[in-house]
Amino acid sequence: MKNSTPRSRELKQKKLLLLQERARRLRWQPLHRKSCDLKDPLGSCGCPQALAYNSDADVIGYGGAAGGGKSDLEVATALLKHHRAAIFRRTSKEARDLYERAKSIAGVTWSSNDTEKILRGPQGQLIEFAGLEHPNDVQKWRGRPHDFLGFDEVTEFLEMQVRFVGGWLRTTRPGQRCQQILTFNPPSTVEGRWVIRYFAPWIDKNYRGERAMPGELRWFAAIDGKEIEVESGKPFEHNGRPIVPVSRTFIPASLRDNPILQATEYGRQLDALPEPLRSQLLYGDFDAGIVDDDWQVIPSAWIEAAFERYRNGKRPDVPLTAVGIDVARGGKDSSVYAPRYINWFDPLIKVPGKDTPDGFAIAGDIATFSNNIIEDSDGEKFSHRFADSTEIHIDIIGVGGSPADILSNNGFRVVPINGSASSHAIAFGRLGFVNVRSEIYWNFREALDPVKGHELAIAPNDALREELAAHRWQQQSGRIKVLGKDEVKEIIGRSPDEADAIVYAHAEVSSPGVNQLEALRRLTAPRTEN
Ligand SMILES: [Zn+2]
Repeated sequence: MKNSTPRSRELKQKKLLLLQERARRLRWQPLHRKSCDLKDPLGSCGCPQALAYNSDADVIGYGGAAGGGKSDLEVATALLKHHRAAIFRRTSKEARDLYERAKSIAGVTWSSNDTEKILRGPQGQLIEFAGLEHPNDVQKWRGRPHDFLGFDEVTEFLEMQVRFVGGWLRTTRPGQRCQQILTFNPPSTVEGRWVIRYFAPWIDKNYRGERAMPGELRWFAAIDGKEIEVESGKPFEHNGRPIVPVSRTFIPASLRDNPILQATEYGRQLDALPEPLRSQLLYGDFDAGIVDDDWQVIPSAWIEAAFERYRNGKRPDVPLTAVGIDVARGGKDSSVYAPRYINWFDPLIKVPGKDTPDGFAIAGDIATFSNNIIEDSDGEKFSHRFADSTEIHIDIIGVGGSPADILSNNGFRVVPINGSASSHAIAFGRLGFVNVRSEIYWNFREALDPVKGHELAIAPNDALREELAAHRWQQQSGRIKVLGKDEVKEIIGRSPDEADAIVYAHAEVSSPGVNQLEALRRLTAPRTEN
C-alpha cells in the first residue's frame, strides 16, 4: 500500500491489538474447521465464519446450511466493529432470544435494557434487537441511521423490508465502516425466494452471468429502478445522477466441512466443473428445499415448464394477439405491458408512468413499442407487430375517465377487465368464482396445466415467477376466491403488477374495435399547429 508509513503501520498494529483484546473479552471466537491451525480470535484463517467477519463487502450473505454460527456472526460483528447497530428477526419473540444470546456473548462491560432489548457498550456503542412482524413495521426505522444491520434468517423477511431499512445504513462517525449481514438457510417457502435472486451470482443455478466464488466481491447498482451487476465499485453517472455501486458477497457456512478455500487445488478443480454441478457442490441446491403453498393457484413447476417452453420454442409468426396492461397509477412508477402471440408471451415491457396515465399516454406507449425494437436486459432484441386484430386487455379498477374509455372511443379493440366484477363462469364443472380476477387467474392456471393446458410459453422472469407463485386461493361459500392485489402485496411486499399484466393478456374475452392502426397513427402523430 502506498500510504503504509511506519506511523500508519504502528497505528494499524495498535488497532489490531485493541480489537484482539476486545475479542478476547467477548465470549466469541470464530468457528474453526477441525483442520484449522490458526484458531485466531479474529480469524485471519479462511474458515467461513472468520471469512465473513473479515469480509469487506457492503452486504454479506452468510449461511446455506444449518449450524455454522449465523446469529453469533452478526452479534460479534455488531459488538466488535460497530457503533450503532440493529439486528432483526421476523418476530419480536425470536428477536428476544437473539438479544439474550448477545447479552451472554457481550459479557460484563456491556450494559443491557431487557425491556427495550438494547445493549450499550463501554465506548457508547448501541445494539438494538427487534422484530419486523408486519410489513409496515419498517416505518418505525425510517430516518434512524445505523452503521450495522443484521437480518437473521433473512428469507423470513420481505425483500421490501430489508431494502427499506437498509436505506438508512449510514454514519457520520469518521472512519466507521457501514455493513449489513444477511444470514439464512436455503429458503423453504416461495416468499423467501427473493434471496436467491439477491445473491444470484453465488446461489442461483440458472444465473446467466459468470458465477462467483465464496467470499468474492461483486458490485451492484440500481439503474432506472432495475438492479444490475456492474464491473466494479467505481462510482459513475447515469442521466446526470451519481451512482455508487454496492458490493455483495456470499459465504456458505457449510464450507466448514468442505475445505475449498484452504485447498486451492480443489478450488481449481471445482472451477473446471460444468454448471450446475459446480454450484451444487459449492453451495448446495438452493432451489431444492422450496415447497409450494398448499393453496398456491399455479404450482411452481408449471411456471418453470412454461419458461422452459419459451427457451426451447419460437414466437409464432402472427401479429400480436393481445397486449395485457397493468396501468401505472397512485404512486406506482411504471405501467407493465404483456405482449401475447397466441400462446406465446414475450418479455414484459415496463414503461415509466406519466403523472396522469390516460388513454393517450398508453396509446403512445403502444406506438413506441410497436414501432421500435426493444432490447431487454440480456441484450435480446424484440419488435412487436401490432394489428387491427390486436386486443388491448386493460384493467379498469378504480379510475374515472379511464384509459380504457379513451382508447375505446378512439377505435381500439379494448377489452376492459374489471377484476372485482362478479363472475358467471364455473370451474371443475361445478365451482364458481367470487369475481373476475379469480376467474382469469384460474383460467391462466388451467392453461399452464402440463397435461390439459395450452402449452403456454412465457419469457423467464424472476419477479414474475415470485408474483405468480404468491397467488393463493380459497373456497368462499362454495366458490373459488383468488387473493386480491393488496392481499398478494402483504405476502411479497409489492404489488403483483407483472403477474397481473400477463394474466390480463391471457384473459379470454373479446369485444369489437374499428381500424385501430389508423387510430394509433392519429393519436400518436406529432401535433401540428393549424
Ligand atoms: Zn480457522
